[in-house]
Amino acid sequence: MNLRDFGRGNYRQLDDYAFGSGGMVLAAPQLKDAIDSVARESGTKPYVVYPSPQGALISQETIETLALQDNVAIICGHYEGIDERFTERYVDLEVSVGDFVLTGGEIPAMLIVDAMSRLVPGVVGKSRAVIEDSFYRGMLDNPNYTRPAMWEGLTVPEVLTGGNAQEISRWRRREAVRRTLTRRPDLVSRASVREYVSGVKVAVIAEDDAVNLAELAEVCGAYGAGRPYIVAGTHELRAAMKGMYPEAKVVGHVSKIIDDDTLTVKVSATARVNAMQSLEVKRKCLEHEGDIVFVFAQDDDVLDGLGGITGYVADSEGLPLSVRIGISLDRFLGKR
Ligand code: SAM
Repeated sequence: MNLRDFGRGNYRQLDDYAFGSGGMVLAAPQLKDAIDSVARESGTKPYVVYPSPQGALISQETIETLALQDNVAIICGHYEGIDERFTERYVDLEVSVGDFVLTGGEIPAMLIVDAMSRLVPGVVGKSRAVIEDSFYRGMLDNPNYTRPAMWEGLTVPEVLTGGNAQEISRWRRREAVRRTLTRRPDLVSRASVREYVSGVKVAVIAEDDAVNLAELAEVCGAYGAGRPYIVAGTHELRAAMKGMYPEAKVVGHVSKIIDDDTLTVKVSATARVNAMQSLEVKRKCLEHEGDIVFVFAQDDDVLDGLGGITGYVADSEGLPLSVRIGISLDRFLGKR
């Protein structure tokens, strides 16, 4: 909308001198009138966004949050910006599009609208394409190629022209991981990486029959880990577990579910000697190309005898096992 429609006086004035510095600033009453008019027209109070170099850096998460709002109004600043009192009282989100200064908020507004519109079903032909884009899950996209297959002596990676769908999808995931780890390792902490790691299994070393298997199975299922493996050292315990939950995958030792290509992650609730913080575990999982087994125990000391790496999940001590497993899987694989 044209802010000038809300200007005051013969010149439809929108701005005035900044107290103290003398630059021009968009005035609060006119901006308030503009917002009120949006609310009247649409019937709901808009979520007010002010693009400004003083805001937090915009991200895909910000865009996803905006796309969920019923009604969004973006205020385009100009000159020195807008009266701070308007920001304080009416702006819901102040965002920057980068650490540089533009002349006005119009280009940031277009950028926000474009990114939001890609999330509206039907705007982008194939919704899979949106899901696979950089940043949707917090990871960078794999490189892309098109015809001709040979150009200026450069070829396309052979796997892409080979036609093996499974190999292609493995290659794409591997390239996306490689790119993210080398170009933007900072993204990993908040990315959802479940799609980028191979098979994930969860094993629980049970010392008694107090484990709630149905609840554990649900938690593991939610993170694509399938049903958990229950490691029960004695015949009696194995029988008891099976009796309680017939679908349980009960084994006598962790070694039964590990092979040479498996990364074993012993998950501890406390900071133990040689333990890795959860973000380091997440990175290890991304770098590893084979299956991953996360091993939990009712008592962490039981993990000591096993091989593999130890992951430490802060703030999970003392929680029920299924909750601890949920939090741990989320830290290792989930989106922040
Ligand atoms: N005096 C302001 C400062 O130093 O922060 C700069 C104002 S700028 C010249 C004018 C307008 O452009 C701002 O009010 C804002 O709406 C927009 N703008 C400039 N750079 C921006 C950025 N990096 N991100 C978002 N908006 C920006």
